[in-house]
Amino acid sequence: MKPNPLEKQLLDAFEKLEVIDAHEHLPPEPVRTGQKVDVFTLFCHYTAVDLGSAGMGQQAMSQLHNAELPLEYRWRLFAPYLEAIRYGSYARPAFIAAREFYGVDDINEKTYQPLSQKMQAANTPGIYQRILRDKCRIRTALTQCQRTDYDLDLLVPLMPLDHYAAPRTWEGIQRTAAPLEQRVNTLDDYLALLAVGVARWKSEGVVGIKMVSHPSGAPDRAEALSCFESLRAGREKQLPERNPLRDFLTEEMLEVAADQDLTVAVHAGMWGDFRAMAAEHMIPIVPRHPRTRFDLYHMGMPETRDAGLIGKNFPNVWLNMCWSHVISQKMATSALDEWLDLVPVNKLIAFGGDYNKPVEKVYGALVMAREDIARVLAGRIADGQMTESEAAALAKKWFFDNPRELYRLKV
Ligand SMILES: [Zn+2]
Repeated sequence: MKPNPLEKQLLDAFEKLEVIDAHEHLPPEPVRTGQKVDVFTLFCHYTAVDLGSAGMGQQAMSQLHNAELPLEYRWRLFAPYLEAIRYGSYARPAFIAAREFYGVDDINEKTYQPLSQKMQAANTPGIYQRILRDKCRIRTALTQCQRTDYDLDLLVPLMPLDHYAAPRTWEGIQRTAAPLEQRVNTLDDYLALLAVGVARWKSEGVVGIKMVSHPSGAPDRAEALSCFESLRAGREKQLPERNPLRDFLTEEMLEVAADQDLTVAVHAGMWGDFRAMAAEHMIPIVPRHPRTRFDLYHMGMPETRDAGLIGKNFPNVWLNMCWSHVISQKMATSALDEWLDLVPVNKLIAFGGDYNKPVEKVYGALVMAREDIARVLAGRIADGQMTESEAAALAKKWFFDNPRELYRLKV
């Protein structure tokens, strides 16, 4: 964006802030440095959705990310679709990364080869430190890759609730129990397993558990028991994806999270049939667990008003803008402006890039988050509703203090 003078002053202040990056899927650094990277690394992940939407077929897409194929061949597949997606919010962090880290002003026919060479040359140990700490000023990034082998300083993990809440077969139950050396014969054995498993995660540095906002039934122990027993007796080989055992175990996990003082992160909105992941599905669940802290992700896009009202009405729900800035800057900005009317400012979290392999794009996403927040707060200053120093204090809360407190981070 072209900032006006007030926005520019705020942006200058925001660039000095330390950041808690409240959601990524970054693997440990050796996973990244152990892979070949090139220009198309900047166009994996979310931009792949836009490439597909623009008409790029599945086969071309998989060729694009096959580093064994010549770069030139892959560029010819890619170039027409780049023109279709380049103005979208998903694509912008790739262009910001090319410019800021590799000195390449545009990604095009002339630059894709030198950009790829520079990216590979920089793909060395320390790349996370250089990008996340030195460039982004990220103190800690919360990350989710279904693993806990992180340094717990720069990267701190969350683990998936469904690991324990969604068993569908008797073999699956035994597989889940095996690493914890637990015997599971009864539903109560399985509930004991949940408690042991979550405590183990916590001892490994996990600070939260991630779930998805799905439609579900009210938890019913008798129905859950009947599902469990039908698996144990072999009357049923595999439960359907949604089932009463899952509904029951999900809500048991929410209590275990509270017992362990872990935050429950909730994916809401976006992807495919986003209606099946809408924030509103949390409305009956949240008040059943007043001790549990919920961190509602992605502004619930596109249902940002539903998410805002959930954050307003329930003391134990926080609202996290992770991923939102790169979904649509305009939607994120207008929703945040409405949320300022609605939601206490201690409930808001500004940023999470939500990236895995292209760690460079975390920086682009952060630039966009700063822009969105500067735009909204500058509007409030211009309206005479707050001073510039109050706006800067709010940004510090949203980028750092609120996520640190919500996740009990020791930084
Ligand atoms: Zn995510």
